[in-house]
Amino acid sequence: PFDVLVVGGGPAGSAAAIYSARKGIRTGIVAERFGGQVNDTLSIENIIGTKATEGPAFVSSLEAHVLDYEIDVMKSQRAKKVEKKDLIEVTLENGAVLKGKTVILSTGARYRQLEVPGEEKFKNKGVAYCPHCDGPIFKGKDVAVIGGGNSGVEAAIDLAGVVNHVTLIQRSEELKADKVLQERVRSLKNVTIITNALTTEITGTDKVNGLTYKDRKTGEEKQIVLQGVFIQIGLLPNTEFLQGAIEMNAHGEIIVDKHGATNVSGIFAAGDCTDTAYKQIVISMGSGATAALGAFDYMIRNVDS
Ligand code: FAD
Repeated sequence: PFDVLVVGGGPAGSAAAIYSARKGIRTGIVAERFGGQVNDTLSIENIIGTKATEGPAFVSSLEAHVLDYEIDVMKSQRAKKVEKKDLIEVTLENGAVLKGKTVILSTGARYRQLEVPGEEKFKNKGVAYCPHCDGPIFKGKDVAVIGGGNSGVEAAIDLAGVVNHVTLIQRSEELKADKVLQERVRSLKNVTIITNALTTEITGTDKVNGLTYKDRKTGEEKQIVLQGVFIQIGLLPNTEFLQGAIEMNAHGEIIVDKHGATNVSGIFAAGDCTDTAYKQIVISMGSGATAALGAFDYMIRNVDS
């Protein structure tokens, strides 16, 4: 068996594996897509100490760093079940069963898609999902935020300080965000709020140049000219396969303590799949390191070597 078996090969899983391998213990990573969400990112400017890089380049350097250690990397493999028996058993979709004395879950998350024409085509060309990441790219420009829940309204407030103008678009009659956030966003002079608006298309040529929505009250189609669209309709943790096996919160995020431990002894978790307050590369890496050290601590106390 592995001493530490990491499920998920994004920033959190890579950090967990490197920290584990550096203890000289048998470490494996199983990942559907090595690099995770970073593969879908163009420019990254907030990995502290690395002024600017690009997603694919960063994934390559993550992988090179992981491969520098004796880590068993199993790519293009998807886990479908995790079960605690004598050891912890991870069943893959191809039927294989991997065993670990400890397991670190780092399966990440995915942004809920709007699923309108233009969204896919203009990803990284004006369509964005993360205001902390991509806000500064739109400095001085006009953008829309789609989604009137807490994350949408927070994004509108955040972006209003960076861009020229924000149009906040909500599908239903009212914003759903906390009252204090609604008051704050309404007080901002460069934010326009449009409710009852169903986004129908993101338009552009080589980059985004506008957005079309349908006024749900009048049925009228309207156009907004802008350079960026932030889609804020939810971040979904990749934890469906863990339902019933591990304690999660109402959003499906794995609940962890300050050592990265879950409610099942020997199973740890890190990164965007957990109930961590914020979801970023540096934060995921930090929590991956924490979970690895937590797993190591657990092993020296509980597991016969
Ligand atoms: P992920 O990166 O999501 O990795 C999850 C891993 O688990 C992947 O290897 C995946 O294939 C694997 N996996 C999932 N399910 C299974 C399964 N059942 N079995 C096996 N493997 C599985 N953050 C920043 O700090 N700066 C930025 O500029 C930035 N820009 C972003 C731009 C975009 C477009 C997106 C989508 C995100 C951006 N982020 C950015 C957020 C950042 O990418 C995430 O916070 C970070 O990747 C989370 O790392 P993670 O390891 O927890 O999860």
